[in-house]
Amino acid sequence: MSRRPLMVANWKMNGLQRDGAALAQAILQGLPSLPESQPQLVICPPATLLAPIGAVLSGTQVALGGQDCHAKPSGAYTGDVAAGMLADLGCRYVIVGHSERRAMHAEDDALVCAKAVAAHGAGLTAIICIGESLADREAGRTLDVIARQLDLSVPQGATTANTVIAYEPVWAIGTGKVATPAQVAEVQGAIRGRLARQVSSGADICLLYGGSVKPDNAATLLSLDDVDGALVGGASLDAAQFLAIAAHAARR
Ligand code: PEP
Repeated sequence: MSRRPLMVANWKMNGLQRDGAALAQAILQGLPSLPESQPQLVICPPATLLAPIGAVLSGTQVALGGQDCHAKPSGAYTGDVAAGMLADLGCRYVIVGHSERRAMHAEDDALVCAKAVAAHGAGLTAIICIGESLADREAGRTLDVIARQLDLSVPQGATTANTVIAYEPVWAIGTGKVATPAQVAEVQGAIRGRLARQVSSGADICLLYGGSVKPDNAATLLSLDDVDGALVGGASLDAAQFLAIAAHAARR
């Protein structure tokens, strides 16, 4: 089965209406520069920009995604956004379990799994983030941590259509430190093997790498067998950089 590459822009808590719309427009204008077998691009703006960026992307090939969702469909959860609300705004994707949410909002694997189930229930593709801390890596626990996160964060109902896994070593996010190709290949291969055993069609689930992906390291990272695309933070705030990264995505 052929896996279409996926490039996800995570704008995090950046952007006001005018500059967000200009950034989305610049990305759209650059689409013709991408190879013919274009990757699927997804823009995940902050919640306040979902509606205006959704309007800019409407009718284009670039999809809209949320950066997080609540596990419940509605209720007394001040400040939170339900998966159904994201779908209602035209989102097709939602990131869950980003390491910044896990660390700063104390989200554990069980909650991440519940959010992914909520995303599936709303018809969204959940981009489930996993990754080891620096302490885990230095202690030689990386593969154990990844295995635990996969077991506990990925719902039984995960399919190639409703789930993407983003491997993001915590120590590589926003730090400029990139995992070596050998480190990425080892972990992505382990993820692929475990998913194959864990869920049906798991071997074909789209796997992203994330962590300081930039135009100058994208070619190497995206050429690895089990890397089907990237989750891009900092570099996605610059249209030229994001497109330059996306240009290296290759169909498997
Ligand atoms: C991220 O936010 O998921 C990310 C990988 O950020 P950066 O590319 O800035 O490391």
